Amino acid sequence: MLTDNYGRTINYLRVSITDRCNLRCIYCMPPEGVKWKPHENILTFEEILRLVKIMAALGIKNIKITGGEPLLRKGAHSFLKDLKLINGIEKVRLTTNGLLLNNFLNEAEENALPNAVNISLDALDINRYKQITGFNNGSSDVFSEPKVILSVIDRLLEKQITVKINCVPIHSINEEEIIPITKLGKEKNIIVRFIELMPIGCASALQCISGTQVKEIIEKTFGALVPFDNISGSGPAVYYSLNGFKGKIGFINALSHSFCHTCNRLRLTSDGFLKLCLSSDVGLDLRQLLRNGANDSEVSQAIIKAVKNKPSSYKFSENIEGMFKIGG
Ligand code: SAM
Ligand code: SF4
Repeated sequence: MLTDNYGRTINYLRVSITDRCNLRCIYCMPPEGVKWKPHENILTFEEILRLVKIMAALGIKNIKITGGEPLLRKGAHSFLKDLKLINGIEKVRLTTNGLLLNNFLNEAEENALPNAVNISLDALDINRYKQITGFNNGSSDVFSEPKVILSVIDRLLEKQITVKINCVPIHSINEEEIIPITKLGKEKNIIVRFIELMPIGCASALQCISGTQVKEIIEKTFGALVPFDNISGSGPAVYYSLNGFKGKIGFINALSHSFCHTCNRLRLTSDGFLKLCLSSDVGLDLRQLLRNGANDSEVSQAIIKAVKNKPSSYKFSENIEGMFKIGG
C-alpha cells in the first residue's frame, strides 16, 4: 500500500498523456502562447503502462487519463485497452473537452472504452464557448460546437458509460451558463459538476465563483438541492439531487472547502514527472529513472519513498504551471 507521512492512502493516479490541446481555454493556457514539452520527453505508451503496472502493485486502483487533450494522442484507444487489462486497475476514467469523442467512439473497441467520461463544458452558448475556449482562433482543426459535444453524451450513455459534465464558473465570463448547464442533468442521467476555479497559471487573473454561490443560483431556479451520497469514485466532490431531474448535480469546492486531508491522488505528467500535489513541484522524475535503466523494484522503491513527501495541503500561486502541463 502507498501511504504518505500524514497517513493518507494513495490509490488514485491521474495520467496525462499529452500537454497539447486543440483548445486554448482562458483559465488553462496563457494567451501569449504555449511552449510544448519536447516530443522526445513525452513518455511512450509502453513506459506509461510499465509505470502503471508497478504502481498497481503498490495499490493504485483508479486511473484518470487526462492532458492537454488526451484524445489528440494517436493510439489513445489501444492504450486504454492495455491499461484496463492491468492487474489491480479497477476503473479507468477519461477527462476530455469532448471535441474528438465521436471519432474515439467510432474507432475504439468495446474493451477500450473507459468506465467513465468527464466532459469539460463551460458554456452552451456558442459565442461564450468560443470566448472561453479560443475555439474560433484557428486553434482547433476539428469543427465542433457545444451541440456536437452534447450529442455524444447519448452515445456514451447507450454504452453504459458514466458521464460527468465539468463546468468551471468564472465571474463576468459564464455565470449565465450555470442554469442552462444545470438543466442538462434534468433530461439525461448524467452528473453535472461545478468546479471552483483554481488560481494557478493564467487562471489567477480571473475570479472564481464559489460552489456556495453556484448552489444558491441553482436553488433559486430549481428548488432545494438534496444531498446524495451514493456516487462511486466521487473523490472530493459532493453530490445532490434535484426534484424532477434524472441526473445529479455535484460540486468540487477545492478552494473554499479544502479536502487535502483526504487526498488520495498522484499525478503523472506527460513527460514522466510524478507530481505529489497539484500546487507543488515536489515529486519524482520517473522518466529519468526509467531511461537510466532502473528495474521495476528500484522504480517501486523510489515511488514508495517519494510518496512519503506528499505535501499536507495545497498552496496555490500564479507561478504554478497551467493544468494542461500538470495534467488536470
Ligand atoms: N482537455 C481536457 C479537458 O478539458 O477536460 C483534459 C485536461 S483539462 C486540464 C482537465 C480539467 O481541468 C478541465 O475540466 C478543466 O476545466 C480543468 N481546469 C483547467 N484549469 C483549471 C483551473 N485553473 N481551475 C479549475 N479547473 C481547471
Ligand atoms: Fe485544453 Fe482542457 Fe486546458 Fe481547455 S482545459 S485548454 S481543453 S487542456
